[in-house]
Amino acid sequence: MPELPEVELTRRGIAKQLENACVRSVQLGKPLRWPLGIAPSELAGTHIGSIGRRGKYLWVPLTASHGGDAGGLLVHLGMSGSLALLQSPPPPGPHDHFDLVTDRGTLRLNDPRRFGAVVWSPSRSDDPAAKLLRHLGPEPFDPELTPSRFHASLRSRRAPIKAVLLGGEAVVGAGNIYACEALFQAGIHPALRADRISLPRATRLLQAVRSTLGRALELGGSTLRDFKDVHGASGAYQAEAAVYGREGQACGRCGAPIRRLTQAQRSTFFCASCQRR
Ligand code: ZN
Repeated sequence: MPELPEVELTRRGIAKQLENACVRSVQLGKPLRWPLGIAPSELAGTHIGSIGRRGKYLWVPLTASHGGDAGGLLVHLGMSGSLALLQSPPPPGPHDHFDLVTDRGTLRLNDPRRFGAVVWSPSRSDDPAAKLLRHLGPEPFDPELTPSRFHASLRSRRAPIKAVLLGGEAVVGAGNIYACEALFQAGIHPALRADRISLPRATRLLQAVRSTLGRALELGGSTLRDFKDVHGASGAYQAEAAVYGREGQACGRCGAPIRRLTQAQRSTFFCASCQRR
C-alpha cells in the first residue's frame, strides 16, 4: 500500500513540472473508488496550481482560463495506485483509469485494485474534499504538533497505541511498517493503552514517528525513479527495519527473538524485552 512517504515523494516528483500546466483533456478508464464528480470536458483549459498533500491525499488546485478558481482534484492512490507523468504516453493499459492530459505531459493513474480515486471538489474546504479530509489527524512534521499536544491526544484514547497510530487521528502517516518501527525505537509495547503513555514516552514516540518517516523519505528519494514504483520508499525502508517483517529473528538491541501479534487485523512486530508496557 502506498504510504505517506511514497505520496509525498510522488508530489515532489510531479509538482514542479505540473505547476502552471494547462489541462488539455481528461480521459477516464474503469470506475475508481469514488466518481470524478464533474464532466471531464469542464476541466479542459484549466491551469494547475501548486500541488499539495494532506495525509495520503494529493490536492491538485485548478484555475480557470480567465483566472477564476476552478476547484481542484483530490487524488488518493488507494491500495495499489501509482501516478506517472509521461511525456509520450502509450495508449492506456487495462489498469490505467485516469489520464490528466496537459501541455507538460500526461499524469496517469495506474491502479490494478481500483481502491484509489480522483475526485473533483470546488475547494479543499468544501465537500467532497472537506468530508474526506476532515477525520485526518495532524501532519507528522507540522511544528504545531508539539509533544504536549500529541500526548493530550493520546490521553483521550483507550485503544492500544499501535491501533491509535494506524488510525491516524493522533498523527497521520504512521502506517504499519512505520508504526511498528517507531514503537520499537521509542521502547513502547504495541499493546499498551494510548491513555497510559506518559509525556516523556509520548515525546520519544513522536520523535520516532518523525525519524522513521524522515528516513523513508530519504531512502525513497534515492530509489523512486519515475514514481511508478510506489512501494519504493517503504520497500527500501523495510530492508533496514529493526522489527518489521522479522519475526523469530534476534533483536538487534538485546538478542531476544522478535515477536508478532495481530492487532486490528494487521501484523505487529515487536521485541517484548525492549518494548515495555
Ligand atoms: Zn530487544
